[in-house]
Amino acid sequence: MIELSIIVPLYNEAENINPLYERLKGVVQNLGVSYEFVFINDGSRDETIALVRAIVAQDESVKFIDFSRNFGHQIAVTAGLDRAVGNAVVIIDADLQDPPELIIEMYKKMQSGYEVVYAKRRKREGESLLKKFTAKWFYRILKSITSVEIPVDTGDFRIMDRKVVDVLKQMPEHHKFLRGQISWIGFQQTFVEYDRDERHAGETGYTYRKMLKFALDGITAFSDFPLKLATITGFIVSGISFFVLLYALYIRLIMEIHEPGWTSIIVSVLFLGGVQLISIGVIGEYISRINSEVKNRPLYIIRDTNIEKNQGK
Ligand code: UDP
Ligand code: MG
Repeated sequence: MIELSIIVPLYNEAENINPLYERLKGVVQNLGVSYEFVFINDGSRDETIALVRAIVAQDESVKFIDFSRNFGHQIAVTAGLDRAVGNAVVIIDADLQDPPELIIEMYKKMQSGYEVVYAKRRKREGESLLKKFTAKWFYRILKSITSVEIPVDTGDFRIMDRKVVDVLKQMPEHHKFLRGQISWIGFQQTFVEYDRDERHAGETGYTYRKMLKFALDGITAFSDFPLKLATITGFIVSGISFFVLLYALYIRLIMEIHEPGWTSIIVSVLFLGGVQLISIGVIGEYISRINSEVKNRPLYIIRDTNIEKNQGK
């Protein structure tokens, strides 16, 4: 029986993997519990997997999963959750932005009667202003339009009880937004606060493109508000058009003025066209997600692993 599983997704983390391993090792020694580390190589282009294999060769508590290509952070974590067997499961980034030592505090807090303890960022170091700004507003907008209480300024760095992980594994959606799903599951959740450090080395694997996709996944998975917004604007615009119609008739029939009216036509055509395109786009986003769920492809493809086939799953 393993007490603690620590899941680490890895994408081009060659410079961080060894320092990370040493610090995680220190954490489990401090706690004095049985443990496993689950390293998921998410199609790295550097020597990450070779370094992982070197660690695996000398420490049998280290499990690894090597993906056939880059599937993305959320999917890498999901693969780890599928295979981890610990009574408590930690998700942590590889770049040491999440201080491993915080796991000690999180683990102890969980023992006092919680199923989830997440780490809430007090401040973020060494990230671009644009990233901090977009992240800040994303979490606040998401909070205001979803019915699930998704905590703000919180990443996936957290510890969860086995009960929560087992429920999570039964949620097969392809467009993962794990922190939202975990909030949705419920149970007793609490947090500890920390200051997010700079990346130890290497570059962020989250490009703005990946961040945008992630943000859209979060919103569409937990809110119908954009769909409703399409309807609401539709009503508002039709309402306004109705009055404009009355006004046009009044001018034409009562006042008998034959206005040229080019400006008003071009403005309403452009405005209506814009509203329609946005609404269609919103609907398209939801339909494309339905489409990818219906295809029901495997979430990820494993090239190699040292985990027994039936373990976890
Ligand atoms: N990551 C991953 N696949 C990706 C991008 C990132 O597995 O496609 C991992 C990465 O190795 C790290 C974690 O996800 O352990 C967080 O990524 P990153 O530090 O690049 O994101 P940021 O902290 O800049 O948001
Ligand atoms: Mg990072």
